[in-house]
Amino acid sequence: MDTKLKELRQKLEKQCKLNQELQNEKQELERKLKERDKVLEKLQSRLDELDHSSHRSSSENTLEVRQSRAAVMAPEPIPEDLDIAATRVKKNPSERAQIIKAMEKNDFLSRLDEEQISMMVELLCSLDRCPGDEIIKEGTEGDSLYIVAAGELRVTQAGRHLRTLTSGDVFGELAILYNCKRTASVTANTAVKLWCIERQIYRSIMAIKSKKKREQLKGFLKTARTFKSLSEGQLSSIIDSMEEVKFQDNEVIVREGAEGDTFYIILGGQVLVTKKVNGQQKMIRYMGQGEHFGELALIREILRTATCTAVGEVTCFSIDKEVFEETVPIESLELHDDPDLLDNVDTTEKVSLVSSLQLKDLIPALYQEGRYQGSPVTLGLGGFGRVELVTTLNHGKYYAMKKVSKKLIVEKRQTEHILFEKKLLLDIESDFIVRLYSTFKDSRYIYMVMEFCSGGELWTKLKEVNRFEESVAVFITACVVEAFSYLHKKNILYRDLKPENLMLDSKGYVKLVDFGFAKRLQRGQKTYSFCGTPEYIAPEIIQNQGHDFAADFWSLGILVYELLVGSPPFSSSEPQKIYTKVLDGVIKYPPLMGEAARSLISKLCRPRPGQRLGNTKNGIKDVRNHRWFTSINWHKLRMTQIEAPTIKLIRKGPCYINFDRFPHDKTLADEEFSGFDENF
Ligand code: ATP
Ligand code: MG
Repeated sequence: MDTKLKELRQKLEKQCKLNQELQNEKQELERKLKERDKVLEKLQSRLDELDHSSHRSSSENTLEVRQSRAAVMAPEPIPEDLDIAATRVKKNPSERAQIIKAMEKNDFLSRLDEEQISMMVELLCSLDRCPGDEIIKEGTEGDSLYIVAAGELRVTQAGRHLRTLTSGDVFGELAILYNCKRTASVTANTAVKLWCIERQIYRSIMAIKSKKKREQLKGFLKTARTFKSLSEGQLSSIIDSMEEVKFQDNEVIVREGAEGDTFYIILGGQVLVTKKVNGQQKMIRYMGQGEHFGELALIREILRTATCTAVGEVTCFSIDKEVFEETVPIESLELHDDPDLLDNVDTTEKVSLVSSLQLKDLIPALYQEGRYQGSPVTLGLGGFGRVELVTTLNHGKYYAMKKVSKKLIVEKRQTEHILFEKKLLLDIESDFIVRLYSTFKDSRYIYMVMEFCSGGELWTKLKEVNRFEESVAVFITACVVEAFSYLHKKNILYRDLKPENLMLDSKGYVKLVDFGFAKRLQRGQKTYSFCGTPEYIAPEIIQNQGHDFAADFWSLGILVYELLVGSPPFSSSEPQKIYTKVLDGVIKYPPLMGEAARSLISKLCRPRPGQRLGNTKNGIKDVRNHRWFTSINWHKLRMTQIEAPTIKLIRKGPCYINFDRFPHDKTLADEEFSGFDENF
């Protein structure tokens, strides 16, 4: 038993030893493995490094190559005093034809534009050489390009024959670009006649030509409204981004109804503008050199409003929206809603129609029924007068005519305001802002003839239904966003947003009216006047910190709230209490309000103007992209192609049905002769 025990113990000890050894071995192996991993890691990183550096050096190489080539291309200054005209050589038609044919055949010369080619034809001089004469010597510096007019020459390199040149062949063309060593010799086999041009002359042509062309293009660009406010530098970089495109006879350049994203200037040829009217193509006009089309495509998404077709060959200079956006910051553009092409016609029609409008031709529209039957329709009463519904005998179109007492304006010291409002509105063309067509005056009144918004006041509609369904509120707000976008791009601050200043047109589209508080303000500037409606005023206005476009976004948030809830978030019968609430900035959301709306409102009504949605880096885009507007197709909205959900708010009947009724006021305002309205 004892021995057995001993044996077992020995065995156990042995096993333990073995285990220990194994354990050691395992540890050793693990250590080795780790070491190997480390080595591997090191190797890998070394490999990466090598890889990287080899990439780097190869890209550095290419960079170097590009740099040096570029540097070689423009070593010589353009000689300013070179008398190019003196080098002009007369050529007969067959000589010209031969030269042009030779140039067209040549890879490099065929890329010159027509004008460059014809200048070159003018400037080539003729050169006669005898058999055996060496025209180009391998290894020397070259400065001329040659076209063979007659005879035969041989090209050799290190004494080895390369090829034979005959009439119509071009050689030495690299020398025309930059100072380079000739890589081969050219020798006359027979008596030869050559046309030749020197680099200095060639480069002068190019410089003069492109300078002239740039000036011309700049002039063309300046005629586009969008570019009006751009600096010379910006115009220049646009030109730098533009490309020449050619169109064949009858080729359609833009098609009515197609999406447009390119702007064109006509450099040569004629373009026919047509438009579909009652299913038929109606000719609108011809456009020629210097005229442009597609301007709006650069600033917003549009569908082409007319078709432009090339008449004969047409050369245009063009730029795409995408490239354009990278060239010029949108803030520097003059934004407008001038609907380009078509509307050149429509506007002329409109203008002629409107400019021919005379006060005496405007006749009051009359109530057709009810207790005021037979008397003139008053659409509303304003602080300084009333707005009447008028029409013309000829075409039966309705206008809203605001009639303001001059005496009252002077008394209330509003003369500057009304002049400003007129000037501003006459310059505004947006589907989301009421149009002012014309103004008149007499000894008692100032008259403003506006587009008639037959759908009535949004305020009245809101009061009728208490609060709007979300889809209606979304649509209304989207229209306001478009109006703001238009105004802000024109550097106009609105400052008086509220349902009272929104009207509906016959389609249910919402329009901003009343520009009494609007102000022109450059980006980066602040304005300090206190104005607005207490419930809608932004905190920075209350605190006199100076305000800007961000104040409009604040009021947009308040509007969204009021449309959905029926009353604004900060309200009280005492203005002072409203201001305190605005400064506290605590908005209570009723339980019925959706999460997206809350999010939008809270982002628009952030106390810090710099953090407000619409006023951050992406500007108004951020507002459009907010999820509350998911259902809005902004493009369609801009084209007024969305069916407005507000349409159900509009009553059908006589054209004044959506307005309160007012008795006729026969009293006349006092006369006023201060002359403040001289320019009205
Ligand atoms: P204020 O002159 O102080 O700005 P206000 O804003 O109340 O006063 P107006 O802008 O003169 O008044 O307009 C008075 C009312 O006339 C409006 O509330 C509206 O009902 C009606 N109205 C104004 N413009 C139009 C229009 N273009 N189309 C139809 N109705 C209009
Ligand atoms: Mg008003």
